Amino acid sequence: MKTEIHPRLIDLPLVQEADAILRKCVHCGFCTATCPTYQLLGDELDGPRGRIYLIKNLLEQDDIDDKSVQHLDRCLTCRACETTCPSGVEYGRLLDIGKQFAAERSSAPFLRRLLSAALRFVVPRKVLFKPLLTISQWFRPLLPAFLKSHVPSKQPVRHAVKSSNAARVLLLGGCVQSSATPNVVASLQKILAAIDTESRLVDEGCCGALDYHLAAHEQGMARMRHVIDLLYPQLEQVDAIVSSATGCGVTIAEYPDILKYDNDYADKARAVADKLVDPVELLESLDLNLTGKDVAVHTPCSMQHGLGLNGRVEALLSKWGLRLTAHKEGHLCCGSAGTYSILQPELSTSLRDRKLNNLEAGQPSVIVTANVGCQLHLQSGTETHVMHWLELVADLL
Ligand code: SF4
Ligand code: SF4
Repeated sequence: MKTEIHPRLIDLPLVQEADAILRKCVHCGFCTATCPTYQLLGDELDGPRGRIYLIKNLLEQDDIDDKSVQHLDRCLTCRACETTCPSGVEYGRLLDIGKQFAAERSSAPFLRRLLSAALRFVVPRKVLFKPLLTISQWFRPLLPAFLKSHVPSKQPVRHAVKSSNAARVLLLGGCVQSSATPNVVASLQKILAAIDTESRLVDEGCCGALDYHLAAHEQGMARMRHVIDLLYPQLEQVDAIVSSATGCGVTIAEYPDILKYDNDYADKARAVADKLVDPVELLESLDLNLTGKDVAVHTPCSMQHGLGLNGRVEALLSKWGLRLTAHKEGHLCCGSAGTYSILQPELSTSLRDRKLNNLEAGQPSVIVTANVGCQLHLQSGTETHVMHWLELVADLL
């Protein structure tokens, strides 16, 4: 794609990076076929190729109109388009850069700005989020339907295992996961204990994804530096850092890209990301004998399109003896996508219901996934139990 970047922007490193991504796109449109928002809305501008043109226009004109911003905001950042693209266009990175420039040149409606600011203020702060969640859970039966669907039932910790200070495996607690689904990391600790692997839980706080993907790059990067400051001094003492929420895992894997212009943190970001593994990679060599259950596996976008681990959980659960049910459209997002289910509720609900129809076609007794957002979002639309795959394995051990 030929570009003529605006002279005011041409010297900015981020713009040069975006320009290089834009130039890789040959506007073939293959990506459009796998884009969830294009499938729902049928509008070229709600598909990746259209959004790429909108970002190109923004960087060429140094301006953007409100309608174009809406099309960018409707993107789930699921990155299905990246998996499909034959030219290697890093769409996710381009969108992050584009949204930052769009946010500086436009003003979202007041309510959206308020909601976005409230989410960014509350969700990453466990000291606020956890009590608010607990109070909402007490009054859940009295809440209006929209709020109720966003308040998960209280999830007990079924597998408490002690941390060991000498452990060579660090488990990240996460922000939302540690309050909403604390049994996930406890389940991983139980599995590791069963194979005599000691682990240590880290309270690292928010990985920065929430701010960063809501176009608050500075605040997002400040959170990333905080996580790096905590993990980097421990790297020599550990073999692996494990995130059991793929949404956080994919963000930490992206730290080197996001912080590459920061001379103080670029190398540290790379070192931290190099030690990061997903639980499925950590447990792949393990032999277990599990029985029963018809399981539908929903692989989060962050896992399949972001971390490139599509099919790995399915392969592992099958190897361990569980029966998996087949389903269509595995590549499509469930509509959770971080804060998307709150900021774009209609599209998000359509995608959730479509995903559940597909997942439940094989009449599974349980649906498993690998990310807290997908888990809670899917559960809000079905009576079928939705859990993290680590919880299922720990229950069956
Ligand atoms: S598939 Fe890749 S090259 Fe083709 S239009 Fe989409 S982003 Fe551009
Ligand atoms: S990231 Fe997902 S929603 Fe956004 S353009 Fe790509 S495929 Fe469509």
